[in-house]
Amino acid sequence: LATPLFADLAGDARVSFEFFPPKTEKMEETLWESVQTLAPLGPRFVSVTYGAGGSTRERTHATVARIARETTIPAAAHLTCVDATREEIDAVAHEYWAAGVRHIVALRGDSPVAGQPFVSPVGGYENAAALVAGLRKLHPFEISVSAYPECHPDSPSEAADLDNLKRKLDAGATRAITQFFHEAETFFRFRDAAAKAGIDAEIVPGIMPVMNFGAVQRMSAMCGTVVPPWMGTLFDGLDDRPAARQLVSATIAAELCRRLYAGGVRDFHFYTLNRAELSYAICHLLGIRAQPALVAAQAA
Ligand code: FAD
Repeated sequence: LATPLFADLAGDARVSFEFFPPKTEKMEETLWESVQTLAPLGPRFVSVTYGAGGSTRERTHATVARIARETTIPAAAHLTCVDATREEIDAVAHEYWAAGVRHIVALRGDSPVAGQPFVSPVGGYENAAALVAGLRKLHPFEISVSAYPECHPDSPSEAADLDNLKRKLDAGATRAITQFFHEAETFFRFRDAAAKAGIDAEIVPGIMPVMNFGAVQRMSAMCGTVVPPWMGTLFDGLDDRPAARQLVSATIAAELCRRLYAGGVRDFHFYTLNRAELSYAICHLLGIRAQPALVAAQAA
């Protein structure tokens, strides 16, 4: 209580932002406004997700290519192993390299049929570690992979999940970005366990600002993320009050980031859901400001 709120942040935090490829023109407009709002904050990179089963292959490519063309931010493309042969995935990776994309977020992905276990396609990459090794042979990409502070639901144990993370990093990934989680202690426990398992690569916490608490509850249940009871209490009664909900959401996410920062974290990855304002506000509280040169570049 002795320190004024957020005054302990030295402005040395670094951020990255994740978007998903838009389905409609209206969504494309929203996405593009969000990119333009967040770009002046000088993110290390922005990434664009890849839909289940390659369903967004063209849209992911178009979005990444547009970011690479129209902004100065390094763009990263997510790529999964679902429903594609090695040759098909390699061809997508070659296209990215040719378009100037140098960073891939390499993932296994999930079965396109909800609730079914992932089955490696014949002639395909069997998991993210195999994909990382495959990409390494193609081009000197920077590669990020996923990590799960609360263990991936398919994993038999936390130790097996950490082994899997280590395999991905040993295969040539540069960093891990985590699944979202709701309490700083969850991340610290995972960071300690990873260090004990001999993992010394950068582990960047994935931050999901809550836009819709019901949706976050459903997503959390699907990926095994614990929703602490205090969150329900804080969002209770705000269903019909979107503006108040945003303020509460920003407060919760900013407090999570502040705690992570106090524990030594300096890099944060935001799941923006293509909306800029919440992530912008949290970055602001983290001491990150729009850079005049980037504002000018964006205007140009
Ligand atoms: P992997 O790391 O390959 O492993 C998944 C699980 O299987 C782990 O539990 C692992 O322990 C186990 N496993 C893997 N190989 C073996 C083995 N040989 N033996 C035993 N166990 C093994 N999904 C999308 O569809 N598109 C996206 O763009 C996308 N982006 C994401 C970004 C981030 C930062 C994160 C955290 C997740 C993202 N996802 C995305 C979700 C992801 O695809 C799913 O969580 C998927 O179920 C697992 O993918 P993975 O790359 O983590 O898999």
